Amino acid sequence: MKKNIYYSLLMSSIITVAAAEETRQVDKHEHGVGELNIAVESSAINLEFMIPGADITGFEYEAKSDSDIALVNAALSKFENFQNIFILPDSSNCDLVDAEIGINQEDDHDEHDEHDDHDEHDDHDEHDEHDEHDEHEDESHNEFVAHYSFSCRNVKEIDRIDFPYFTTFPSSGELEIQFVSEAGSTSFEVEGDEPFIDLKGKI
Ligand SMILES: [Zn+2]
Repeated sequence: MKKNIYYSLLMSSIITVAAAEETRQVDKHEHGVGELNIAVESSAINLEFMIPGADITGFEYEAKSDSDIALVNAALSKFENFQNIFILPDSSNCDLVDAEIGINQEDDHDEHDEHDDHDEHDDHDEHDEHDEHDEHEDESHNEFVAHYSFSCRNVKEIDRIDFPYFTTFPSSGELEIQFVSEAGSTSFEVEGDEPFIDLKGKI
């Protein structure tokens, strides 16, 4: 029973990555708050980051100028080396087996034709559903999405995860972390002054 629940959580996190662009509403995020889902299953650990562009590059419009594109590419390449983002204990002997890094870009003027399923009756009605947002006209949002999967020889040795993320990206705010393993689920809020989580007894 418990295991079934766990599996469905894991599956939904995988599906979220695959279909993030379709299902996640990027403009619902909060600047200064990155989200991280961590799932441990038998010898595997998966980490999925969803971080507002405001916390990474400082902007969320689609990069078009050479300097903005360079900033985005520099950020993506930092994510590509996961040790810039987080550190697992050496004793857990975890090997990276899969990683997927990208940006979900949402723009007010949707120039992409990827969303044929949508009924786009009126692109110019900008005043629906956004009453609680800061009132920037022409506001767009994006998120950096990074998913890492590891296979570990000693997964139970993961008693702590450190987050150099906070120093790698000086504009970062906090990380809201949802952690799930066969031992149960926990949430954490982590900030740069104590950039780690304690997982003793949680795996
Ligand atoms: Zn945003």
